[in-house]
Amino acid sequence: MSAAYSILKEVFGYEAFRGPQEAIVDHVIGGGDALVLMPTGGGKSLCYQVPAIVRQQQGRGVAIVVSPLIALMHDQVGALHEAGVDAAFLNSSLGYDEAQDVELRLQTGGITLLYAAPERLNTPRFLGLLDDLYAQGKLSLFAIDEAHCVSQWGHDFRPEYRALTVLHQRFPGVPRIALTATADALTREDIVERLQLQEARLFISSFDRPNIRYRIEEKKDVTTQLLRFIEREHAGEAGVVYCQSRKRVDELAATLAGAGINALPYHAGLDGAVRKKHQDRFLREEGIVMVATIAFGMGIDKPDVRFVAHVDMPKNIEGYYQETGRAGRDGLPADAWMAYGLADVVNQRRMIDESPAGEEFKAGLRGKLDALLALAEATDCRRVRLLAYFGEASTPCGNCDNCLTPPAVWDATDAARKLLSTIYRVQQASHIGFGAGHLMDVLRGKPTDKVTQFGHDKLSTFGLGADLSEQQLRGVLRQLVATGAVGLQKVQMDNGHSFDTLALTDASRSVLRGEVPVRLRETVAAAPGERKRRRS
Ligand code: ADP
Ligand code: ZN
Repeated sequence: MSAAYSILKEVFGYEAFRGPQEAIVDHVIGGGDALVLMPTGGGKSLCYQVPAIVRQQQGRGVAIVVSPLIALMHDQVGALHEAGVDAAFLNSSLGYDEAQDVELRLQTGGITLLYAAPERLNTPRFLGLLDDLYAQGKLSLFAIDEAHCVSQWGHDFRPEYRALTVLHQRFPGVPRIALTATADALTREDIVERLQLQEARLFISSFDRPNIRYRIEEKKDVTTQLLRFIEREHAGEAGVVYCQSRKRVDELAATLAGAGINALPYHAGLDGAVRKKHQDRFLREEGIVMVATIAFGMGIDKPDVRFVAHVDMPKNIEGYYQETGRAGRDGLPADAWMAYGLADVVNQRRMIDESPAGEEFKAGLRGKLDALLALAEATDCRRVRLLAYFGEASTPCGNCDNCLTPPAVWDATDAARKLLSTIYRVQQASHIGFGAGHLMDVLRGKPTDKVTQFGHDKLSTFGLGADLSEQQLRGVLRQLVATGAVGLQKVQMDNGHSFDTLALTDASRSVLRGEVPVRLRETVAAAPGERKRRRS
């Protein structure tokens, strides 16, 4: 029996390595560098914990684990203690005496795994300690957890991670293993470059989470939709509802609680003690629904989260994948549910436009948003698209909304042209832009005050879309904005307010000429969630 396998069995109590774990563990025990891309819940921790213990037994000293989250360090160190492993952490939660105690144990070889926050690692004092250990040959390995934090393309950039190149330069020969659940090509390249892992062996696991059912539906009255989803399909079960703003979190948590759901809010604006209390309850009690911003979730290992709901759209596919990945870690059926509408597209585009970043960086963000929009508008298998984004080929999954209830597709080329000509005519007539509501009114032939005031009831396109429902038109508009065939223009008002108006873009032209067919998903009358659930 190999040393690694006996540690797996005797210390961790597992019968077998999972997926690529064994190859990774062997590689690192042998002194090689590794970059590990594995989805959340895939079992990354063992990939450095087992080598750390084996190498310590070989007399090679302590493993340093760089981790960005205090809560995660606490959990891991606690679990290692229970398994009888000498583990400790150094972070800002320790008092002076406690930190000194850890340092002493470190110097005397009493620690097998030391977890440290990146900012701690970069201090001269800590680097000095590592120098001493290195000189004695007592640094067994470096593990860099959540390695995507080094990349500005990751969703969780931490500047302190940039300084981790020092590990390679200052301590050559000590194996390094970087781990992340974020695996798009851009982030991956960035990690390799920033951490100087060009020589590292790359281990990529499948990112498929077959037990998660992906569902994306059109946003109408999102609170009602969410309530219906929870009550019909997940009554009494644990879940996470992601919102974009703190205010929205507070409101929605209150609404759900008012409807008898065991809901708690979580966001960075809440008092630390309240956050901790809510998180503890979520972990310990059954059936708590956490309504949260993305501040919640990283490092939370709760196996029986039955659903993750997005009432606002995330920024990109990495975020979506990471957040939905918190559902169903126990392998049992779970739902990833998202409601999405025109406002989401507009908001996300605006946030990018208004960010102070440089143009090149913004272009990167837009590309990432477009990929997510394409996923949201997709009429074919969501999982195939999701995995393709991470470079993985697959076949239709049979466990997403589009596979289970293939959406009817209608030819919206004509409707799209009507809409675009209306934008054009309205702009020609008034030389100012208008929002979606006004355009709908013109198209559907509604002579509202605003329509008559501007004389838009005299336009040739007035009433041209009367044969289409408002919902159909909104769908067309949303998808045109999503694909960039309709652009947004910000208009500043004298009173300081600003609003978004719709404008034609370069891409509008080919749609207007009918060169690009527009095929859109028919809005499904019954929400896919109303099917019977299959539980294995
Ligand atoms: P990640 O960090 O990749 O999200 P973790 O390391 O937290 O994943 O592991 C996820 C879960 O899987 C944990 O509960 C862990 O104990 C379990 N696990 C990991 N490897 C194995 C294995 N070889 N056999 C059984 N369970 C495992
Ligand atoms: Zn599918």
